[in-house]
Amino acid sequence: MAEERFDFREAEPRWQRRWDEEGIYKVERDPSRPKFYALAMFPYPSGKLHMGHVRNYTIVDVIARYRRMKGYNVLHPMGFDSFGMPAENAAIQHGANPAVWTRENIAEMTAQLKQLGYSYDWSRAVYTYREDYYRWTQWLFLQFYKKGLAYKKTAPVNWCPSCQTVLANEQVEDGRCWRCDSLVTKKDLSQWFFRITQYADELLEDLKLLEGGWPEQVRIMQQNWIGRSEGARVEFTLEATGDKIPIFTTRPDTIYGVT
Ligand SMILES: [Zn+2]
Repeated sequence: MAEERFDFREAEPRWQRRWDEEGIYKVERDPSRPKFYALAMFPYPSGKLHMGHVRNYTIVDVIARYRRMKGYNVLHPMGFDSFGMPAENAAIQHGANPAVWTRENIAEMTAQLKQLGYSYDWSRAVYTYREDYYRWTQWLFLQFYKKGLAYKKTAPVNWCPSCQTVLANEQVEDGRCWRCDSLVTKKDLSQWFFRITQYADELLEDLKLLEGGWPEQVRIMQQNWIGRSEGARVEFTLEATGDKIPIFTTRPDTIYGVT
């Protein structure tokens, strides 16, 4: 007797093609139905999906499908966070053109996401390395600049002498580069900053709105990241030279213990 087996190699691409042709996940404006926006995150095009991606995207796909069944008009988009330092580093590492490398990885990962059968409207996909996307980040930057919320100054950055790139704080592990293990140095570079401190009070205040919905640990992380601290600026005078050393302390009441 012939063994009966579900031939997924035949069935899956056949159905996926049909969903694609009929555009069953296409979203249009529809004021007659309530709206729902389900966004997981845009992956960075590293080459192939890993199980962490599958976990993330499956959870949000389930939410999107559930809402659709409940009658919502669900916008469930996908895109690729594909511009900047990681592409630059990968290009150095592989000796490849970053644009070519990025496009190839996106094609590979898109094929994998389609194999998983997620309900994305691919006609709305965004690709942050493309001009039609980053023209808007440039536009936003100009608005910040005009309002005095973007400014330039020289400040030290984490620098990997071997990768020849700047590293974010999270990319420095025990003083070493996360990629190549070289000792990270400090380098003064002229760079752009956003005046986010202007929004510190507002951001802190609004963290209260997340109580109940967000885990406490995440809210504390946000609070620390905003990093407002109240204290006093104090000047110490050196007895020998009369030079002044300015300091900031959150505990001016303990100042008499200073040696
Ligand atoms: Zn490095």
